[in-house]
Amino acid sequence: MNNFAETKPHAVLTPYPLQGHINPMLQLAKLLHLRGFYITFVNTEHNHKRLLNSMGPKAFDGFTDFDFKIIPEMNGDGDVSQDLQSLRESIRNNFINPFRELAARLDDSAKSGLIPPVTCLVSDSFMSVTIQVAEELALPVVLLVPSSACSFLSALHFRTLIEKGVIPLKDESYLTNGYLDAKVDWIPGLQNFRLKDLLAFIRTTNPNDLMIEFIIEVGDRFGRVSAILFNTCNDLESDVMNVLYSMFPSLYTIGPFASFLNQSPNDHLASLDSNLWKEDPKCFEWLDSKEPGSIVYVNFGSTTVMSLEKLLEFAWGLANSKKPFLWIIRPDLVIGGSVVFSSEFVNEISDRGLIVGWCQQEKVLKHPSIGGFLTHCGWNSTIESICGGVPVLCWPFFADQPTNCRYICKIWEIGIEIDSNVKRGEVEKLVNELMVGERGKKMREKINEMKKKVEEDTRPGGGSYMNLDRLIKEVLLKQN
Ligand code: UDP
Repeated sequence: MNNFAETKPHAVLTPYPLQGHINPMLQLAKLLHLRGFYITFVNTEHNHKRLLNSMGPKAFDGFTDFDFKIIPEMNGDGDVSQDLQSLRESIRNNFINPFRELAARLDDSAKSGLIPPVTCLVSDSFMSVTIQVAEELALPVVLLVPSSACSFLSALHFRTLIEKGVIPLKDESYLTNGYLDAKVDWIPGLQNFRLKDLLAFIRTTNPNDLMIEFIIEVGDRFGRVSAILFNTCNDLESDVMNVLYSMFPSLYTIGPFASFLNQSPNDHLASLDSNLWKEDPKCFEWLDSKEPGSIVYVNFGSTTVMSLEKLLEFAWGLANSKKPFLWIIRPDLVIGGSVVFSSEFVNEISDRGLIVGWCQQEKVLKHPSIGGFLTHCGWNSTIESICGGVPVLCWPFFADQPTNCRYICKIWEIGIEIDSNVKRGEVEKLVNELMVGERGKKMREKINEMKKKVEEDTRPGGGSYMNLDRLIKEVLLKQN
């Protein structure tokens, strides 16, 4: 039996149970582990099963001082994992008691000398229900915001949007009648933003919209936490961070985590991953056989869905561009069923297109063959494209994606937006612009400069690097 009584600090990390939230939390867990923390990583039972299914039954075995715990099934959470409103309700109503019980079990194990006592909680900002348990146990609790700082800032103004009568929208026509083009000049830090660039949750006519209620509820809890963390760096979002620093005393930009990990020796953790879908091993062999910078990589993330009609516009746009492409089509990407392409399309792309169900995106974006990325602008995808130095075409779908898209296209100028009502001719034209056009060249130069900046930020002496040191010293290791 180990005696940990006076040894490692012990962090319990709890992601929101979606792919785009689990990934950054696992990266943060690795960073803390490399700084000497004992880690308990908490997944829902449903996701734990999915992770083992996609990565193998031994995926989480054999790591020293890095353990995985499960929150048992929460009233059918298995059925709601991709239905965001139901998932949110399930967490809100059913998570706290099992989490409290888990904390008690960890305490028992610590008292028996099996693990070090828990010293801090690190939760996703959407898992702010855990604050209550931290308060009961008198532990520091920090929240990780897995989205951009700019979308976080826009979420903080939802109450004002209601007070100003901006949301809910009066009726459905407001979605398309130009109303969303109105300038938002009253949120310091968001320059030249329009209503349509704010979190897409504002696009509702329902006065009792649950997502809006949830965002306000989460926002109100930030005053109770020991610190707020961002998977970004000051260089990326300096205007927004300056505003946020004046609002919250304890705020740390410690990203991009991916860039951090690329530069820290962590071979013993290399096999530790978090794919909810099974990766297709064909991708890398295929990419290895291609010319540098020649491939368009297409991936709409883990939650975006689209109609078959739209998917076919993308498909024919890609085919007609004549550029080679790697396209990830999740089994649940298309609303109402799986995709069967016509033989005409299959023949057309047979010498230059590879379509698979899931890949290791972060690794793909660093592959030398990738020259451009058609993305839905999820925050992880955005920072992974910066870390890979790959310029983008943006097709934002919902949540924080329109906000990230605004940053990508207008502030950083590393991407071009595709109309939400996508048409094949536009896809064809913009893919060519991205891959071989003057605009693509300029965007590539810009994103490579950004890549260098974030690498500097996450190296010893860089801003994020020093912020992580400060976070650990000032918050996570602080005795109450
Ligand atoms: N991802 C992946 N393989 C895929 C699709 C997505 O590894 O085929 C990862 C991607 O690297 C990112 C996360 O899943 O880390 C998706 O997060 P993001 O914020 O980009 O979008 P979301 O899925 O939350 O909409």
